[in-house]
Amino acid sequence: MNILLIGSGGREHAIANALAKSPRLTRLFIAPGNPGTAEAGDNVDLDAADHGAVAAFCKEWGVALVVVGPEQPLIGGLVDYLEARDILAFGPSRAAAQLEGSKGFTKDLCRAHKIPTAAYGRFDNESAALAYLRKKGAPIVVKADGLASGKGVVVATTLIEAERAVEAMFAGAFGRSGAEVVIEEFLEGEEASLFALCDGARALGFSTAQDHKRAFEGDAGPNTGGMGAYSPACVVTPEIERQVMGEIIMPTLAAMREMGAPYRGVLYAGLMLTKDGPKLIEYNCRFGDPEAQVILPRLDDDLLELMLAAARGELPQRPVRFSKRAALTVVLAAKNYPATPLVGTRIGGLDHAQAIPDVIVTHAGTRVEGGRLLAAGGRVLNVTALADSVTKAQELAYKGVDAIQWPGGFCRRDIGWREVAREQASRPGSLVGGAGIPR
Ligand code: AMP
Repeated sequence: MNILLIGSGGREHAIANALAKSPRLTRLFIAPGNPGTAEAGDNVDLDAADHGAVAAFCKEWGVALVVVGPEQPLIGGLVDYLEARDILAFGPSRAAAQLEGSKGFTKDLCRAHKIPTAAYGRFDNESAALAYLRKKGAPIVVKADGLASGKGVVVATTLIEAERAVEAMFAGAFGRSGAEVVIEEFLEGEEASLFALCDGARALGFSTAQDHKRAFEGDAGPNTGGMGAYSPACVVTPEIERQVMGEIIMPTLAAMREMGAPYRGVLYAGLMLTKDGPKLIEYNCRFGDPEAQVILPRLDDDLLELMLAAARGELPQRPVRFSKRAALTVVLAAKNYPATPLVGTRIGGLDHAQAIPDVIVTHAGTRVEGGRLLAAGGRVLNVTALADSVTKAQELAYKGVDAIQWPGGFCRRDIGWREVAREQASRPGSLVGGAGIPR
C-alpha cells in the first residue's frame, strides 16, 4: 500500500521510520520531507497548502492513506478536502482540529462537559480583559486564542506583566490569533503529556511523555518548540492515566461527535498534575515534536495498521502495545535558537552516533548541499536512545550526541532530569528521600 506523509520535521522522520516497519507498506512518500525521511521513503516536492496538488498526487500514485504530521494543514482543512474526494486521511477535520486551533473553543467545551481544566474568561476587547485581570490578580495566565507557534502564552507572575501581555495581544502582537484572548487561573503541579489514538468514537491510550520547553538547563531561558523529551512519563501512573482517559479524553470525544465533528487522529493532551487531580492545559491535534521521537520507537504495534483503523473508524478493542523500555530524546539546535538560529553550519559524525546500538538520529532542520549535511533551521537533529531506565537512556543519548561533530549547535545536558532524580531516589540504599525531589 502507498502512503503519503505530510511534514518535514523530526516528528515526521520518526513517523516515517515507524511506518517503514509495516509489512503492508509498498511505497512511502513524504512531502516535502527532509534528508532523514529520504532514507525511509521518497521525498516529494508537494506543497501541503495546495490541496488540489496533494489530491492529484494521491490519485496518480494510488495513495491509500495520507498521514498529516503538523497542525497547520489540519487546521487548514486538508483532511476535509481529501475525504471529499474519497482519499483516506489520518488526522482530524478542520472542525475537529479546533481543539488545537482555538483555545476558547476548547475551554468552552471543557466547561460545558465538566472536563477538569483551569478556570478562565474569554475576551474580545481589551478593557473587559484588563478588568477581569484586576479582579483575579497574579499569578495568572494570558493566552492568544489562535495558533501562535507556542509563543502566545504568558504565565504572568505579576499583574503588570499580565496587563502588558493583554495590551500586546490586542495591539496585534500575534496578528489575528490575538484578536481574542483567554485568561486562565494559574495551575500548580508537574506537567506531562498523554496521547490518544482516536477513531471518532473510541480512543486508545498511546503512551505518555514529558518534554522540556525552555532553551537552557534547569528549565531556564526562552520557550522553544521543545528541547527534549522522554517516555513513558511515570508521573502519569496507571491510575492517573485511567482518570485522564475517563474524565478528559472520552468526554471530549463524545462532545465532538455530538456536535457533528467526530475526532479522528492523535489527540495530545497537555496536562497539569495538580493536587486536585489531572487538569487539561491544552489539546494538540497531532503528535508532539519531539514527543513522537520518544513514543514511536517504543511502539510494539504496526503504526500503519493503527492509523488506517483510526481513519476508517475501526480501532481495535485492545490496548496498543508499547515496549517497557524508556526512550529519551535530546534536541540539537542551531546556536542562537530560538531567537535567530545560525543556519548553514556543517554537521558531521552522524554515522558514529547511529552506529551505537539503541541510538536513533532523526533529522529536523537539515539539508544536504554538495554532499555535505548543513543546519537549515532552529531545531536541527534529535538523538534518541532506548534503555531499561530513563537514567540509562539519558546516558546513552548523550553518548550519541557526543559522537556528532557540530560546532554550530547546542543542546541541553539535563533532559529527563525529573525522572532521573526520581529513579535515583527510589534506588535501594538511596539517601535521598522521595519528598526532597524537585518537581
Ligand atoms: P499552552 O500553549 O496552552 O500549552 O501553554 C504553554 C505552557 O504555558 C504550558 O506548557 C504551561 O507550562 C504553561 N501554562 C499554560 N496554561 C497554564 C496554566 N493555566 N497554569 C500554569 N501554567 C500554564
